[in-house]
Parts: sequence; structure tokens; C-alpha cells
Amino acid sequence: MPSPVAHFLFGLTAHVAISPAADIGWRRRTVVTVAAALAPDLDFVFKAFGVAVHQGASHSVGAALIAGVVVAGTAAAARWPHPGALGLAAFLGWISHVILDLLNLDTHPPIGLLALWPFADGHYKAPWPIFMDIGRTLEWLTVRRNTVALAWEAALLSPLLVLAWRLRTRPRR
Ligand SMILES: [Zn+2]
Repeated sequence: MPSPVAHFLFGLTAHVAISPAADIGWRRRTVVTVAAALAPDLDFVFKAFGVAVHQGASHSVGAALIAGVVVAGTAAAARWPHPGALGLAAFLGWISHVILDLLNLDTHPPIGLLALWPFADGHYKAPWPIFMDIGRTLEWLTVRRNTVALAWEAALLSPLLVLAWRLRTRPRR
């Protein structure tokens, strides 16, 4: 799996890419998109209880749809403005996580994601991984490898964020 840094950067890029220039700084939508981009890996919490569900249904189109509906419904109940836009932001942030995870090298079985749950139950993975797998131990070799993986993620994703920002905020003629 890519690191939380990668998911943060790509979630923020998704927010900038879909926001009208005047709304890029809309803090509530920014927080919703980035939080949704990070949320799928909270399935690690279940591992503490002995349930191995990482990269299961939480990493899917279905989970992204559920997140969008829950956020839109909560926003509507709280009478926040534009609940539909917030629901869309949650959906896109969540999907950005699934896309990044599809593009990384997976060394932890089961290999791949239940990306199309509940519409299909296959495990999917891009045939050409772009991101390195983040190790989950504090051994020196793993820490060194994770440092390289983080630098690679930042090198790939930061230009995308800058590009989205420049395209969204450039003056229109
Ligand atoms: Zn993940």
C-alpha cells in the first residue's frame, strides 16, 4: 500500500481538480475530501481485534458510494450548505485512495483489492505497479526502504497537485 502521505497528496489533488477556482479554499470540502482519501486504511483497526480485512470491501467503489451518501445525508441533517457537493467530495476522496492502492506493488496476500465490491468479488491490481509497498515494521532495512518509497511518492504526486492548482487558478481570458 502507498503511505498516508501519498493518499493525502492525491486526495488534495482530487479536491483541487474538481473544485471551481473560487471554491478551492472551501475548508469543509477540503477536509471531507482529504479525510475520505485517508479513511479506507482505518480497516487496520480491525486487525487489532484479530480480523484481517485490510484492502477488503473498504477499498471499493461500493464503500466510496456509501461514504458519499453518509456524508451527504449527515451534511443535510446538519443543515450545512451544499450537502450534495460534500457527498461528491467524500466519494471522490475515497475513490482516489482506491486508485492509488490499485497502482502500488502489493506484497501482502490476498494480492489486489475488492475494487468493484459489491458489483463483483474479484481482487484487482494494476499490472504495472507505480508505487512501492510500504513496510510495516521498524527494522532498519524497512525504514530505509520506506524512506525511498515516500520520496518516490512525493516526487510523483507533488507535480500533479501543483499542475491541478495551476490549471484551476490560472486567469481566464
Ligand atoms: Zn489502502
